[in-house]
Amino acid sequence: MHESNEHSPLAGETWREAARQQKRGIPRALALLWRGVCLRCPRCGARTLFRTWLAMHERCALCGLRFEREQGYFLGAIYINYGVTAVLALLGSFALEYWTRPTLTQQLMLWIGFCTIFPVLFFRHSRGLWLGFDFIFDPDMAAEPQQRGTPRR
Ligand SMILES: [Zn+2]
Repeated sequence: MHESNEHSPLAGETWREAARQQKRGIPRALALLWRGVCLRCPRCGARTLFRTWLAMHERCALCGLRFEREQGYFLGAIYINYGVTAVLALLGSFALEYWTRPTLTQQLMLWIGFCTIFPVLFFRHSRGLWLGFDFIFDPDMAAEPQQRGTPRR
């Protein structure tokens, strides 16, 4: 398999060797999701996803992995962000109701605020999670779109 290494500033095969030694199965999946939560590249683990608070790098500076594979790729991250927000708000409101019995107004104020602020704070992590999630099922994402699906040599 031939891959261009022109985007990788590091010489050698360090990240490839690390990828070869990666765990398999569920431990691998959990490790990839954890990398996403920690805003790390799913392939090499380098902390290279974001260049500013909101803007992502186009590629990983270490292994050259292209993060946004196609237009609209991060739509899945919006679903993750929404799902995590909804589950946390639901569980949180049930827990609060069970232990402290706040008024309906207090509950609404709290959880409307939560549902406004949390998705903004979780935005980067949801993108990292989406990348990790996608990498679990399609590690071939390492290849460029025109190379994907071609038989391995
Ligand atoms: Zn990388």
